[in-house]
Amino acid sequence: MHKDPSYYIQGVLDNNRLMLARTITLVESILTSHQEIAKHVINELLPHTGKAVRLGITGVPGAGKSTFIESFGLWLIEKGHRVAVLAVDPSSSLSRGSILGDKTRMEALARHPSSFIRPSPSGGALGGVARKTRETIIACEAAGYDIILIETVGVGQSEVTVRSMVDFFLLMQIAGAGDELQGIKKGIMELADLVVVNKADGQNIQAAELACRELNNALHYLRHATPGWTTKAITCSATEKTGLPEVWYEIERFVKQGGISGVLEGRRQSQVLQWFESLLTEAVLNRFHSDPRVNQMLPELKSQVGKGEMPVMLAVQKLLDGA
Ligand code: GDP
Repeated sequence: MHKDPSYYIQGVLDNNRLMLARTITLVESILTSHQEIAKHVINELLPHTGKAVRLGITGVPGAGKSTFIESFGLWLIEKGHRVAVLAVDPSSSLSRGSILGDKTRMEALARHPSSFIRPSPSGGALGGVARKTRETIIACEAAGYDIILIETVGVGQSEVTVRSMVDFFLLMQIAGAGDELQGIKKGIMELADLVVVNKADGQNIQAAELACRELNNALHYLRHATPGWTTKAITCSATEKTGLPEVWYEIERFVKQGGISGVLEGRRQSQVLQWFESLLTEAVLNRFHSDPRVNQMLPELKSQVGKGEMPVMLAVQKLLDGA
């Protein structure tokens, strides 16, 4: 690893893909010395960011997310955009990256010089993955990517986390896979700015259109994710490359409308504040747990609390007073 932050900063600002990859490796490193350099790099890159459209995409495995991202990414590149694809997959440290980990996925997009694809960092806990992904977004934007696509799987909290770092959130569905399975639970639908029913092709067209109508009916009764924006469902086929212009039309309309109303700026401001608070919590906890007095007192207090010899509140107070 190079020790000079300007080596990374210049490389990223020169739109050098290899240097962008190296910078992200630095950001993802768990070594304190690397973290120190990464902090400087990210700080210097920040003024060069903020202009990209940040898109989140979720859906159950098999819905067609990576096929869609490849088709949509190449379509956007044809229109003159530069596209970065990232993933948030908290299970990746166990499964060695279930999304984007497989090199055969998105081959054509990966080969294109206007794209950049990065699998999920293996951060263990979702908090670690989220921090690294936020910093990776900054690096990609500074390297001139104007569309950042962040893929996640439909598991637990990861959708909420990705929602908290993007402007626009797309939920991918397929017809006939069962509502429960697809997480058409109220919670996830209410995070989405657009629902896309994929695989509307061949013999599946009618079923996809029916599912789309049903989703539009259901959406009437739900709270929308973004004030002033009505979330709706549309169909597409990632393999036939149909419906892609319609998806982009909705995103552009959203960005334009959100820009005028100030909703997007407000969203980004509150996202930065959220990020600040989560980093602060992490830093305070780290500092607390690295205090030798805490480490000395903790085992004994835990044992006393476990045996019921000391009230929990008192043990907490003793630790805080001792630290
Ligand atoms: P992911 O797990 O959500 O990323 O889904 P994949 O992109 O890996 O797709 C799962 C399967 O669905 C693959 O066999 C794809 O070829 C297929 N698939 C994806 N999109 C479409 C589509 O638009 N139409 C059809 N018929 N099949 C598709």
